[in-house]
Amino acid sequence: MSLIVQKYGGSSVADAESIKRVARRVVETKRAGHQVVVVVSAMGDTTDELLDLAAAIADAPPSREMDILLSSGERMSMALLAMAIHEHGETAQSFTGSQAGMITDTSHGKARIIDVSPDRVQESLDTDHIGIVAGFQGVSSESKDITTMGRGGSDTTAVALAAALNADACEIYTDVDGVFTADPRVVKSAHKIDQISSEDMLEMAAAGSKVLHLRSVEYARRFGVKLHVRSSFSQHEGTWVLPGPDDTIALQEGEPLEQPIISGVAHDDSEAKLTISGVPDVPGKAADIFNLIAQAGTNIDMIVQNVSDDTKTTNISFTLPGADIEKSVQILTDNKEQIGFEELDYVPQVGKVSLVGGGMRHHPGVSARFFTALRDAGINIGLISTSEIRVSVITDIEDLGRAVQAIHTAFGLDADQEATVYAGTGR
Ligand code: ADP
Ligand code: ASP
Ligand code: MG
Repeated sequence: MSLIVQKYGGSSVADAESIKRVARRVVETKRAGHQVVVVVSAMGDTTDELLDLAAAIADAPPSREMDILLSSGERMSMALLAMAIHEHGETAQSFTGSQAGMITDTSHGKARIIDVSPDRVQESLDTDHIGIVAGFQGVSSESKDITTMGRGGSDTTAVALAAALNADACEIYTDVDGVFTADPRVVKSAHKIDQISSEDMLEMAAAGSKVLHLRSVEYARRFGVKLHVRSSFSQHEGTWVLPGPDDTIALQEGEPLEQPIISGVAHDDSEAKLTISGVPDVPGKAADIFNLIAQAGTNIDMIVQNVSDDTKTTNISFTLPGADIEKSVQILTDNKEQIGFEELDYVPQVGKVSLVGGGMRHHPGVSARFFTALRDAGINIGLISTSEIRVSVITDIEDLGRAVQAIHTAFGLDADQEATVYAGTGR
């Protein structure tokens, strides 16, 4: 008998009717002869609403309490889904992350998994139940407190359980038919990708395609979990993310022999840009700046340092999560004298657009086509960064949607039909 882990995102369990629909699908999977473990997200925009509630009560709520609050969203969904399954005459048992053996470190709000021991879920399966697990939460082995794993973390719960239970596949059910060549909410002509290498999927997720939590892709790749991203609103086959670097795309008749040059275009509207000018051009200044930023607990994305001019000073620009801009500006301003810079400017929200494709490392001309597309669309570029399989630029936030569309078209990715977005607010 095969074991399938199914994860249903917030828009798939947004209300009572949706939960009943998901229950039918889960029951059908069991009746088709599979063992089923279900991971659920909080209903609809519940997590955002809980965040808003906390913000209305405290400026800086204690992170321990924040995690207890946020973990409650997933607990509602799991109990309601178990009830809906019972209505169909099957039995289901729901478990919190802690009960399901999701052991994490103590970094509240961004906890990392250190062990998964789903004994109770296994017992539940052995006694012919459907196991349901609350997504994105665990328990710290050190403090014994409830933790959460960061926004979108239920994907990672599902993959971690699939790995620990040795599942045959992990299905991620969402509000679109799979992974597309661009976010179908932004590019209507985006098309679904049937199979994508985990390497390209990692870059897409890291560059802002929130259809999969980055850590779920890393985890699936490490443990060889087969991921199938698909819609809970249709029966269409979705996108398979091939786990290992050696899993070549299975060739079907008439398909090209090589992996595609480009997988897709990802975008991110959550970053800010900070520029420090008049930095003395002497050894150690970049170290001073980035040590301070690291102390503030902020992750940096792109960094650019200009060639120094006659005044023997230079400018350093970098991007960082928009949510961290204030504390970063504060800590740099507090240390202005020690670093010796002249000015600090920032833009609280910029756009980042990235072109991703493992095939680009063997194909010249990709960057040329990318920059030509932006020029033809009259879009100005802030910063540029590249990896072997990605080209990214920063644009003004107003230009982001047009930039994504222009690059998508320039690389011949447009489909004839409009992509379907079944639900969700994209929040
Ligand atoms: P869930 O609540 O099911 O976890 P998410 O909102 O986290 O759903 O992820 C699904 C959304 O990801 C889609 O509705 C879509 O707007 C967005 N998205 C961004 N990039 C892509 C992409 N390349 N392919 C598909 N969806 C994408
Ligand atoms: N409910 C959490 C969120 O909205 C976790 C998840 O859905 O994956 O981020
Ligand atoms: Mg998600």
